[in-house]
Amino acid sequence: MLVILHPGTDPELSARVLTAIEQMGGRPVPMTGYNRSAILVEGDRSRVDPRRLRALPGVEDIISDAKPFRRAARESVSEPTVLKLPGGLTIGGEEIVIMAGPCAVESAGQLLETARAVRAAGATVLRAGAFKPRTSPYSFQGLGVEGLKLLAQVRSETGLLIVTEAMDVETLEPVAEVADIIQIGSRNMVNYSLLKAVGRLNKPVLLKRGMAATITELLLSAEYILSEGNPNVILCERGVRGFDSSTRNVFDLSAIPLVHQLSHLPIIADPSHGTGDRHLVPAMARAAIAAGADGLLIEVHHQPDLALSDGGQSLFPEQFSTLMRDVHAIASLLGRRVAAAELVP
Ligand code: PEP
Ligand code: MN
Repeated sequence: MLVILHPGTDPELSARVLTAIEQMGGRPVPMTGYNRSAILVEGDRSRVDPRRLRALPGVEDIISDAKPFRRAARESVSEPTVLKLPGGLTIGGEEIVIMAGPCAVESAGQLLETARAVRAAGATVLRAGAFKPRTSPYSFQGLGVEGLKLLAQVRSETGLLIVTEAMDVETLEPVAEVADIIQIGSRNMVNYSLLKAVGRLNKPVLLKRGMAATITELLLSAEYILSEGNPNVILCERGVRGFDSSTRNVFDLSAIPLVHQLSHLPIIADPSHGTGDRHLVPAMARAAIAAGADGLLIEVHHQPDLALSDGGQSLFPEQFSTLMRDVHAIASLLGRRVAAAELVP
């Protein structure tokens, strides 16, 4: 970090900047140039707050070299993180993991039918919310603990792994008992107590981008989980709010290569919530794989027209099978493969 001082800054003011840096644990190294001066900050910069320095009289600019997220940063490890999932699956390496299923668990029949369909098409993880964060309190809120029981049953009947959302700290424990991957939804990306709580578990966490979150904020939320000791974080791009209501969200495809540039963590794509329209989902799913996504989260329903939530963006099983063929083709072009587990039974 370099603190640039205004030309001709009073020595008393520069001394105050030096003291502030020392107070925050850094080691200031004054550098005097021909017509301006600067202070290089060395030593432990972890507590040196650039905003506090920028506000001091005499300071013109701060040139920061450090990323605010440390554990999530690409430079913090030598290789991209490859997470091990149950059933011998990996995510973040060569394998592309396909997670598919209904928005919500609605009934035993709906869940099993849809699970069988996505499994037949080649998905290895079943997605479905038992606890649903709905925009309106009058919309279907999910089956709760009953839904978790159905998820556990379907896992033992199909062998599919389960990704399901934990909405709050109070219900995290029952969710974590059933989930192979705990989903933290868009609305909870900044629920820091929930992030810390999943950070204390040893289960993979699927962290979705908040609907108005920057990439830096997404990575800082991941940092909360990592810094509590859980290294198993999978990020998810699911679109951000835009000004145009033609699509539900603006699906940010560039987030995928950008996150790979900035972080060692895997990132998957959710084009279902990203677009909100089943006619747009396959194209965006193919594009996400082409952009380097480590997996997909796709809403599929055996009868989307009857779905209790997100029916309009849920694929029919046949559409999902067609998409899977394309995903295989794109993956192999890129030297990757779609993960296939030994699904028991
Ligand atoms: C979901 O995946 O069902 C969901 C609620 O998504 P998001 O948190 O991205 O809105
Ligand atoms: Mn949904």
